[in-house]
Amino acid sequence: MPFDLHTHSNVSDGTEPPQTVVRAAAMAGLAGLALTDHDSTAGWARAADQAVASGLVLIPGMEVSCVSSTGISVHLLSYLHDPHDEALRAEIERARSSRFSRAQRMVERLAEDYPITWDDVLRHSTPDATIGRPHIADALVAHGVVRDRSAAFTSILTPRSRYYVGHYAPDPVDAVRLVLAAGGVPVFAHPVASMRGRVVGPELFEEMIEAGLAGVEVDHRDNPDEGRRWLRLLARRHGLVVTGSSDYHGAGKPNRIGEHTTPDAVVAQIIERGTGTEVIRP
Ligand code: AMP
Ligand code: FE
Ligand code: FE
Ligand code: ZN
Repeated sequence: MPFDLHTHSNVSDGTEPPQTVVRAAAMAGLAGLALTDHDSTAGWARAADQAVASGLVLIPGMEVSCVSSTGISVHLLSYLHDPHDEALRAEIERARSSRFSRAQRMVERLAEDYPITWDDVLRHSTPDATIGRPHIADALVAHGVVRDRSAAFTSILTPRSRYYVGHYAPDPVDAVRLVLAAGGVPVFAHPVASMRGRVVGPELFEEMIEAGLAGVEVDHRDNPDEGRRWLRLLARRHGLVVTGSSDYHGAGKPNRIGEHTTPDAVVAQIIERGTGTEVIRP
């Protein structure tokens, strides 16, 4: 039975608590899932309890925000790393606090033209959540400025918008090394998602592979078909694992849990390589 290896809870920018995400995976008939909140492992314990209760396998994970030297946003999935690893934690904390002040600055800019306050954004996020543009989008939706998150992302929240502010994030090659050093398995998330913005060129792939990248997320709704074919060739050439996942965000995105999945045999390879934390089995 297949796994969904990329899901978000309200520990980051999903709309449901970790337990609800796990229950949704059970209802979709999955054998297991990975919880991969942005820059946070705060949902692991709750997801683990629910996985045991629901009879699912849980692979604790995280999606590390990275920025290339050319300013392109890269997301790196990490599976089974040690959540207490100091070097990785320090980078994550730096990115999280930068996200926080960056969101405040974006709200300051937006407040010049729209009815939005920082309190609104806090109301639309759980305490200690990894704050992102989706939480700002939710506040804008509540004020009737935009219809939904997607509308916000294609208008006033795009990186080309005058309200956009960037945030600190580690270099993708450094992030691959940090994840490996923490016993994790690094997998490049939605690597050719051109509709989200600029994507990285083949040189950065090579550098990340050189650093020990373990896999690429091929089956993801944001990867166009042509890019997927290219990724499969790259994976074959370099012996990378190929994953498929939904990038579920609850009601925050149209992505349905289990809409893309990863077969058992690939999951087994990831579990074998991850040494930083235990897989949760029912
Ligand atoms: P940020 O990390 O703050 O720059 O915001 C990017 C996050 O917003 C991504 O991790 C996605 O989960 C989310 N996102 C991107 N595009 C959309 C969209 N069209 N609708 C909803 N959420 C989105
Ligand atoms: Fe997200
Ligand atoms: Fe992502
Ligand atoms: Zn994601």
